[in-house]
Amino acid sequence: IKVHCCTSTGCRSANATAVMGNLQQAVENENLSDQVEVIGVGCMGFCGRGPLVQIDPQDDLYEEVTPEDAPSIIEALNGGSAKSIKGDAQHPFFARQMKIVRQHSGKVDPERIESYIALGGYQSLFKVLYEMEPVDVVGEIQQSGLRGRGGGGYPTGLKWATVAKMPGNQKYVICNGDEGDPGAFMDRSVLESDPHLVLEGMAIAGYAIGANHGYIYVRAEYPLAIKRLQKAIQQAKKYGLLGSQVFDSPFDFKVDIRIGAGAFVCGEETALIQSIEGGRGNPVPRPPYPAEKGLYGCPTLINNVETFANITSIIREGADWYASIGTENSKGTKVFALTGKIRNNGLIEVPMGITLREIVEDMGGGVPDGEVKAVQTGGPSGGCIPASMLDTPVDYDSLRAIGSMMGSGGMVVMDHTTSMVEIAQFYMEFCRGETCGKCVPCRTGTVQLYALLTKLLKRQATAADLEKLEALCLMVRDTSLCGLGQSAPNPVLSTLKYFRQEYDDLLVQPA
Ligand code: SF4
Repeated sequence: IKVHCCTSTGCRSANATAVMGNLQQAVENENLSDQVEVIGVGCMGFCGRGPLVQIDPQDDLYEEVTPEDAPSIIEALNGGSAKSIKGDAQHPFFARQMKIVRQHSGKVDPERIESYIALGGYQSLFKVLYEMEPVDVVGEIQQSGLRGRGGGGYPTGLKWATVAKMPGNQKYVICNGDEGDPGAFMDRSVLESDPHLVLEGMAIAGYAIGANHGYIYVRAEYPLAIKRLQKAIQQAKKYGLLGSQVFDSPFDFKVDIRIGAGAFVCGEETALIQSIEGGRGNPVPRPPYPAEKGLYGCPTLINNVETFANITSIIREGADWYASIGTENSKGTKVFALTGKIRNNGLIEVPMGITLREIVEDMGGGVPDGEVKAVQTGGPSGGCIPASMLDTPVDYDSLRAIGSMMGSGGMVVMDHTTSMVEIAQFYMEFCRGETCGKCVPCRTGTVQLYALLTKLLKRQATAADLEKLEALCLMVRDTSLCGLGQSAPNPVLSTLKYFRQEYDDLLVQPA
């Protein structure tokens, strides 16, 4: 019997480390050491109910477990009865999910490579090295229809093909783990829960495009993810799965970690490259694109954590299998951090095309009091979708068509008590603080937009100010250099579009 105890950051903050210690002690006290193994695992997803403990193979789930509860869980395995902390492993929050990226999360011990290998880990890497030519690997990713999960949705296979075709002996693979959207923690969870899945995806990419060196860029605020990655890289090297002659083949691939200091703009590809090179993380104009001239002037492939976490499954199950999941133009699944005014908070992985209503009402259980007012997707670059549009399918094109975006996976639910103008101000304050200051429209535009929103909330703004707010949004959107500035006005524009009355109600009325 395996007792899985979540040891990711969310559950740790609720004393999961002590829970795990007491579970292990209880196993000894009950003389069950030869039958029961307590395993520290990654995120099971239902973060709002942590710490979580799950029993395998019975699939019993325990929620909000305290260190004092732990012995009764083990006693229940020995004929006793556990305290009334039993959750429901068949809860819609779990039942509606489809796990590809999070297939091992909550099952694998992220600190032991043997645990990953036992679940079939590194077999996809072996398969590409011994059964596929690099061009076939690129073709498989293209055929799968996978699109970048970092926010832009660019076709991953096309990106791989572009870098693969570039001349030159030195190329790089970069994994972008600079997750920074407020409320988003998908990448952190994947790295903490299943670091080898990402490393294996990066190595496959390296083989496909002809690179022998990868960097994984993680923000310093994710210390547990960094620690587990460091351990994972050491273990993979020891087993000959990273480094020279991977799997005794002619393919070499090493991975280094670069720790970011937490600037949101470093998630932008060109800024991230500058940061890895030791410079200030400022975006630079494109072209040239990183695929042609990236890290140290060499062709570079950049994908985010979730994108790399899809690769092993595509290689193992095939492109057609992957392409059969999702919608016409958005294949596979997407991981979301479901947060805000909602009953069931946590991480979910759902097939593309599921509606917002299914996520918010069925899986999330709706808001605790009152009605859903809006759902914000895409973080500071995204938009607020009104409750009347909850039947919108969650895919790249549908979300963009209604003024929001998939983004990296933040999904914040708002209820009737939420002021949409305050929400717009919150995201603008974030962008104002995170602008790198390189170009004028973003540097001064975000400051001016924040000032206008504040004036509105103080009920000092006139109709002319509101017109100015709208015009300035369009100017910042159309003239900023990088994605941060270009998308910073989105939360204002979408709330203006769907919740205009709230802005009008705040205006100074003519005497
Ligand atoms: Fe910097 Fe903003 Fe310009 Fe991007 S748009 S380069 S973040 S000032």
